[in-house]
Amino acid sequence: MSEKGTTGKIGVTTENIFPVIKKFLYSDHEIFLRELVANAVDADQKMKALAASGECKQELGELKVIIDLDEKEKTLKITDNGIGMTAEEVDKYINQIAFSSAGEFLDKYKDQLSSIIGHFGLGFYSAFMVSRKVTIDTLSWKEGAKAVKWSCDGSPEYEIGESDKAERGTTITLYFDEEGEEFAKKDRIQTLLNKYCKFMPVPVIFGKEQEWKDGKYVDTDNDNVINKIEPLWAKKPADLKEEDYMEFYRNLYPMQEDPLFHIHLNVDYPFNLTGILYFPKIRNNMEVQRNKIQLYCNQMFVTDSVDNIVPDFLTLLHGVIDSPDIPLNVSRSYLQSDSNVKKISGYITKKVAERLEEIYKNNREEYESKWDNLKLFIEFGMLSDEKFCDKAMKFALLENTDKKYFSIDDYRKAIEGQQTDKDKKVVFLYATDPDAQYSFIEAAKAKGYDVLLMDCQLDSHFVNLLETKIKDARFARVDSDSVDNLIPKEDKKRPEVSDKEVEELNTIFKAILPQENNYNVQVENMGEEAAPILITQSEFMRRYREMSALGGGMNFYGQMPESYTIIVNMENPLVSKVMAAKSESVAAETLIPDAAEDASQEVKDKIRKEKEDAAAAHKVDLEQFAKGNEILHQVADLALLANGMLKGKDLSDFIARSAKVVEDAYLK
Ligand code: ADP
Repeated sequence: MSEKGTTGKIGVTTENIFPVIKKFLYSDHEIFLRELVANAVDADQKMKALAASGECKQELGELKVIIDLDEKEKTLKITDNGIGMTAEEVDKYINQIAFSSAGEFLDKYKDQLSSIIGHFGLGFYSAFMVSRKVTIDTLSWKEGAKAVKWSCDGSPEYEIGESDKAERGTTITLYFDEEGEEFAKKDRIQTLLNKYCKFMPVPVIFGKEQEWKDGKYVDTDNDNVINKIEPLWAKKPADLKEEDYMEFYRNLYPMQEDPLFHIHLNVDYPFNLTGILYFPKIRNNMEVQRNKIQLYCNQMFVTDSVDNIVPDFLTLLHGVIDSPDIPLNVSRSYLQSDSNVKKISGYITKKVAERLEEIYKNNREEYESKWDNLKLFIEFGMLSDEKFCDKAMKFALLENTDKKYFSIDDYRKAIEGQQTDKDKKVVFLYATDPDAQYSFIEAAKAKGYDVLLMDCQLDSHFVNLLETKIKDARFARVDSDSVDNLIPKEDKKRPEVSDKEVEELNTIFKAILPQENNYNVQVENMGEEAAPILITQSEFMRRYREMSALGGGMNFYGQMPESYTIIVNMENPLVSKVMAAKSESVAAETLIPDAAEDASQEVKDKIRKEKEDAAAAHKVDLEQFAKGNEILHQVADLALLANGMLKGKDLSDFIARSAKVVEDAYLK
């Protein structure tokens, strides 16, 4: 080696690799810092290993990585006191290895350049994304080694020669170029170090800690150590207490409420993975909670968007996953098809289910007390992941309107006796809004039925899911029919009412009920004591509307007007009274005999017209009767009121009318 040093050309395909580096990592320039600090940490760790094996007997000193920024000169130095490199090693690892493997790779995967980056640990060369020049000053730990200086200005030419470095280890110096200038700021580097290096296994030091003195921040004597918090996941669960997990959580998410439970993940075959996941309290808005899992690779932060690594529902969890087996920097679509990633995802799902089952079994009381905050997560998981669903059928809870919790199996056993219908199906009754459905819930309870509470965002989907999972069962909302019909026990005697009369009732109720909805009258014998009319909404129609509202795609149903069933209780005395009033005040529809079969077309048309006119006239009579009948209005409004459907002018009319009824009863 001459005094000026020698020059050479890097690798074989350098002309290709620099554009690749710049192009594919363009959006992610900042990772250069992560890569360089990771190399420095590695060098320190290797030193530790050499000392531990006895191969190296020298004084190690405190192994650390020091980051030095010169804002004015726009340079950044990363210094470690690890193993360093000899001139041969620089040649082998920096000049040859990195590029020859990249070269092979480029040849092989020319068509899939976007996935290259992950296979080829870009490492050291990512420095060129932000630098016009990079130098390495390094002194190997080996006895009698000479310090080496390597420098390269981003072209394939490099220079290698002697360095004046006196201490063991390596200093990488970056001379930022125009694109890299943004990194020549203290705050920016501090932020990046916090993001990527918070849990690295040797101290990473960036300047001094500061304190507020005489109106400004000044340096203290203490090093500003980036990685003060221990990576708890790397420890043995047996050595940790509940409080340690909580403490760690608070460090990770300083602004969050404490979590419900944690899971410590630890597996080394068939892949390597450690981590701690937390169940946060999830009340309602699922979006806010996402992207709280941080992915690490050997304690080096990689990303906090794990969408393609864990199943969708698990992105609601918080915490840390650390695995060297998840490919870095590859395209998202590539990740999904990676077999390790698939295994990892399956493993985590399994662990999460097992942990929940364990708490359910061993600590039922605590589990129930936390259920309300856990429910959305579990339901989402069951809806989106079949395997999780099958496991969760054991530990998912149902809550009834009396705030009691049951497992699905236990609940079925509890209601089977009372709530099996004539077709041998167990009917799970539920309410979605206990206030609005109060009268229906009370009616069901009075009959000895139990009513579940299903008031969560996902419950309409969840009810559908449970129906497919629970054998011989069906779900019905308490207000979807009269209490007798919710769980039909035997075929009942129908009231003797002609189709014509039912049609008349339809006209009568349509005339006085809110016009924006569809109604369909049905007649029942529900007993003298039961309400005169009941307004219900078919379970089927309601569910389809809800699904389309949640974006289920069934928009046809979503756009239709609300459709209600008016159940008229023919045994109720008020109904009899109204029917009698109707017969009295509305003349029967004029019956017009059919035209003779052999009549002329002209005659036939005339008779058809007469029939239509008669029907229309009768309809007008019925409507007039309905509008003028106070009992009818009162009865209909009471039913609307029971469903929370009486609003605005209708409500104030009802109040005025009721006041008059009371006056009539007491004052006259
Ligand atoms: P990778 O880290 O993926 O192997 P790099 O391009 O980052 O790829 O580094 C190539 C090699 O150069 C490393 O494997 C290591 O042997 C050597 N090296 C890089 N940085 C250092 C350092 N700070 N100290 C000692 N050796 C280093």
